[in-house]
Amino acid sequence: MTQLGFIGLGKMGHPMASNLCRKGERVAVYDVLPEPMQDLVQLGATKAASVADVAQQSNIIFTMLPDSGVVERVVAGPDGVLDHARSGSVIVDMSTIDPRVTDRLAAAAATKGIGFVDAPVGRLSSHAERGESLFMVGGAPRDFACVKPLLEKMGTTIHHCGGVGTGMRTKLVNNFLAIVSCQMNAEAIALSQRFGLSLEKTLDVIHGTTATNGQLKLAWATKVLKGDTEPGFTIDLAHKDLSLIVEAANSERVPVSIAAVAREAYGAARAQGHGAKDFSAMVDVLCDLAAIEKPRLPV
Ligand code: NAD
Repeated sequence: MTQLGFIGLGKMGHPMASNLCRKGERVAVYDVLPEPMQDLVQLGATKAASVADVAQQSNIIFTMLPDSGVVERVVAGPDGVLDHARSGSVIVDMSTIDPRVTDRLAAAAATKGIGFVDAPVGRLSSHAERGESLFMVGGAPRDFACVKPLLEKMGTTIHHCGGVGTGMRTKLVNNFLAIVSCQMNAEAIALSQRFGLSLEKTLDVIHGTTATNGQLKLAWATKVLKGDTEPGFTIDLAHKDLSLIVEAANSERVPVSIAAVAREAYGAARAQGHGAKDFSAMVDVLCDLAAIEKPRLPV
């Protein structure tokens, strides 16, 4: 049986590792925080002592970490995964990071005979809990074939986007639209409230034309518009992803003026102390600013 390693057991990593354990996989887990490891031990996981310990005992090593800097340190830093993993093992990074870091790490892994797959995740932690994540995967066909059955234990939709780095780049394109539409929704809905329009009637109209979008129709109806601003996906993460998008686009000489403006709107929300809220709460932030009552559907 393949020995798996899992590093980073936060809002996404914990439910994903739980699904691997529940579905019979042997998993060594590691996080800098002890609580999530303890939790997974109850489900049959082995608690590892360090990143190096995970790398030494695993054939396939998953990482689900906050940002590019942490992933780079954990994978390629001193005593990181590359220092200790065996030739023939495969690293699967599911975090959302700068795709240029992905390219660098994959190249460094290749020099040691270690495979590298980027498999960032679409959908939210609630989907991860139910094993219903969507993965955008970049990697060589052989590495993809090796990790696909494991991704299927954590998700329902697996897209092989191409070679290493294509999963991460697809994720940035996807998040560009999802995050920018939240800011557009916030402005449009705040305006509807200032006009004194009925929220329900306005949504009825929008959902019957091409103006609607997935965030407004699927996510907002059960989140902010029902008064639920618990994340989900935080304003902090939305700001991080827009920063990755603006930097990656600029490095490719693609101007993304709307992403840049939206990034600053999310930056302002963070500066006001709203970073830990769900990103649909951008409408509440704007309504506060414009002294408009927060829009809510009947519960
Ligand atoms: P999180 O902050 O909840 O979890 C990160 C975990 O990594 C924490 O438990 C932290 O203790 C651990 N960690 C940090 N440094 C570490 C280190 N050096 N060694 C070991 N563990 C370390 O973040 P999250 O919401 O789980 O997101 C993880 C990644 O997934 C991010 O890149 C995020 O952008 C992406 N993502 C999040 C969502 C979401 O809805 N939350 C959805 C899709 C993708």
